[in-house]
This record gives sequence, C-alpha cells and structure tokens, in this order.
Amino acid sequence: MEAKKKKVLLGASWSIVEPLGLFFLSQIARDEGWEPRIVLTREPDFSEMELALREFKPDLLGFTAYSGNHLDVERLFCRAKTLLPNLLTVVGGPQATYFPLESRNYADFTVISEGLNGFRRILRGEAEPGIVHLRRLELFPQTDREQFYRDHSEHRNGAIKNIITSTGCPYSCSYCYNSSKLSSIASALTETQAEEMKLALNAKRLFPFSFRSVSDVVKEADAIRKIAPATRMIFFQDDIFGSNIEWLREFARVWNRRLAFHAQMRFEFADPANPISRERVELMREAGCTGLTFAIEAANPVIRSEVLNRHMDNEVMFRTMAFVGGLGYRVRTEQILGLPRGATSEETKINLEADLEVLELNVQLREQTGLPTIAWASTLAPYRGTAIERYCIKHGFYRQHSRDIPREGYRFKSLLDFPSRWVGPGLSADSDAWLARDEQEEYKDKLYRLMTLFSIFALMPKGHRLAEAFLQGSDQGFPGLNNATRSHLYDYSLFEVRE
Ligand code: SF4
Repeated sequence: MEAKKKKVLLGASWSIVEPLGLFFLSQIARDEGWEPRIVLTREPDFSEMELALREFKPDLLGFTAYSGNHLDVERLFCRAKTLLPNLLTVVGGPQATYFPLESRNYADFTVISEGLNGFRRILRGEAEPGIVHLRRLELFPQTDREQFYRDHSEHRNGAIKNIITSTGCPYSCSYCYNSSKLSSIASALTETQAEEMKLALNAKRLFPFSFRSVSDVVKEADAIRKIAPATRMIFFQDDIFGSNIEWLREFARVWNRRLAFHAQMRFEFADPANPISRERVELMREAGCTGLTFAIEAANPVIRSEVLNRHMDNEVMFRTMAFVGGLGYRVRTEQILGLPRGATSEETKINLEADLEVLELNVQLREQTGLPTIAWASTLAPYRGTAIERYCIKHGFYRQHSRDIPREGYRFKSLLDFPSRWVGPGLSADSDAWLARDEQEEYKDKLYRLMTLFSIFALMPKGHRLAEAFLQGSDQGFPGLNNATRSHLYDYSLFEVRE
C-alpha cells in the first residue's frame, strides 16, 4: 500500500499577480513526495487560511511575509499551532529575509534569501529549526500552477498571466530592498551560515542574480496556455526584463510571438542612444512585446539622485519614450508621491507642488511622444531598514516609525511629516520649518486623492492644471471633480489652455 503523503499548505496575501514564488515551492514539494496546496488570503484576519488548515490538515504551513502583512502572518502562525499542535511552520519572503530574528520568534523555520534549496532541505528533514540560510543555488524548477488555477478561477480566467525569468537587480534605489547586503543580517547568522551564504551568493547582496533558461520560460508559457486557455498576454514580472542581452537574443528567437507580452525595465535599458539598449527593445518588439513599464518616480533629477539614488536625466525619458513610441509600444509609468523633500543640496519644489510636477512631466511626455498610455502612482512607504527610512528619520520626516507599515503599504495615506519650505541638508525634526498638524493632514488628504486619481489626470490635456484646480476646490468629492473637469475641458477646447 502506498504510504500516505505528507501535506504542505502554502499561503500568500491575495494579489492580482499570481504567487510566483509559491509555484516553484509547490513543484519542489511534489518532487519530494509531498502533497502541496496553495491558498491566497484576502481577508485581513486570514480566515481563508484558517479554513484551509481545518480542511486540508497540513503537516507543514508555509507563508510569504512582506512588510505590511508580517504581523498578520505572526498571528496566523500562533493560531495555526493551537489548531494543529504538531504543525511545522515556515516563513519566507522579504520580511523573513531582512528581519530573520523577528520571524524566528514565531515560525519554526525562517527561510532567508532565495528559498528553493532551503525549502527542499526542510521537506527532507535536513534543516534545523531556526534560520534556514541559502547553502547553494538551485536551478528553478517548472512552476506548479494546475491546482492553483483550479481553485482560483479569477486568476485562471484572467487574460494576463505572470512569469518571472530572472531575479536580482544591479541598482540600489534607496526605497527598495533589492540592494540589501548580506552584511545587514550578519548578526543573525552563525559564522558557518554567513560563510556558506557568501559562497552561494557570489556577491554581497542578499538576493542572487539568477536567470532561468529560455527553454524553461517558454515551456512554462506553453503549459499556462494549456491549463488556462483564456490567457492572451504574459506580464514578465522581472524588475529589469532582458538585462542580459545574450539571453534576450535567444529568448526573442525562441519565443517568436507565441503570446503578446509586457515587461518592466529602466529607461536606461531602452535608451536609443545606447546601441545595445536599442537592439534590446527592437528584439523584444519583434518577439511580440506590446508594452513596457518604466519608473519615473520623481520629476526633479535632484530628488531622484539625492533622495532616491536614481541617477538619470529627464532627457533620457523623452528620448526613450519617443523611440519606443515609434516602435509601437504602449507604456505604463510609475511614480512615487509624498517623497521627503526639503533637505536636498539644491532647492526643489516640495509637497503638492512637487507631486503635481511629476504629473506635469507625464503630461509633457504624452504631448511630445504620445506616451505614457497609463501613469500609475503610489505614496512613499519608508520600509524598515531601507536607506530612505534612514534619510527620513535623519531629517525628521518620519517620527512614528514602528514595526507596523500598513497592510496597503504604498497605497496608504502618507506616514511622513512634511516641511513648509525647502531648508537644505540641515533640515531636522527640531527645525521650525514643519507644517502645523492640520496643514499636514490637509496635504496628506490631497496627496491621497491625487494618488488615486493620478491615472485619470495624466490622460487629460494639461491634466496637472485640472488636478491643481480640483485639489484647491472646496468640493473634493465626485461632484467637485465633475465640475472641475467640465470647466477645464471647456477652457481647453475653446482656448487651448488657461495658463
Ligand atoms: S531598479 Fe527597481 S528593483 Fe532595482 S533597486 Fe531600483 S527599485 Fe529596486
């Protein structure tokens, strides 16, 4: 008689993007003779997970934690242990990697960095409870999506499916965890663990640069089409798709328009002034790429450089947009509103004026190049341990810092304090330049409204003017938006624009 398979329940917070990391872990579980199940949780109390624990009765529970859901994961793990006392719990993902000592307090195993090999060792009973470090890099297995699509029809029936072809990023934006170094968690590791990770990573960063083989990626897309026939497009979720030009040349040849796709990259990687970048976007277009996502983040190069550690001229954006527009691409841009401004070495606009400046940049790009097609905005979330969190604390922008970034993270009302004027590098919590409490709240409310309506304003002729008029108006509900839009379009259509 065949031995009863052990069961592993893998969970993540709900997102429109499928839980790509869990698909790899699920396949590893199958390879190791376990029965996996993936469940997404939408409810703030994680009730779907509790139901799955009661019904599926797993031997092991794994969950992906990030800054925002980590306290809910902690609560879930405590409840799970009371429901199933023999259950083993595993936490992985960014939060576990950057704060392993905290995760270790509530999970039996805390998997840090890329977790394929660590997870396999846990399933085999080869890992000690505590921090499970990266001992060696494994090739990515195929993704195990069938059960997930069977149980999650909204993902199965969606036209867009997501795939990842590589991990890691060579840049070091101040607000992003991607550039975190192994040294930042050294105190949580034993000497042997730190040494083994150093060898496995072959770099100082906590997450490795890895590329999947082209044939694996293509096989994955073909399998998706079979199990989810509604699929019309692939969204490649790599931070910078096709950064390795040799890989991309092979990919373009083999992919050969089998499905339309969208990819994310930096402007620099598509800049026609660089022959390799030019070749990259031409190859991708030829292979079936219909759209690109670029991050603008801030309009002022001083803010981009000093606050965000992104060094690029606006000129590159205009040149690149014109080039990719000529090739027929659609473009989605991303920006961060509510940045900590006022402490830079050169004077810049601050607060709402600066937020409207990035909207205006999108409007100008559209006027001159026909792109972007969509412009998306978020509010800065100063994630713990990032360079921007340190910057915000140093200059007094962030005083309430705690373990708890809201679940909505970067789509939440801002957590920062804002000054009333530019001060320069001497700005600190003790300066007399901070907005009064009611002014802070007023700006944060406007900022939140601008963030939620950003995509609409960006598509309007001179949409930054409309946004300004709307946010200055006394009615900031839908009737107010309606009136401001009508008046704006009336002026625009009759007089081009009221400057
Ligand atoms: S380019 Fe993107 S992924 Fe890379 S460090 Fe910057 S924000 Fe992070």
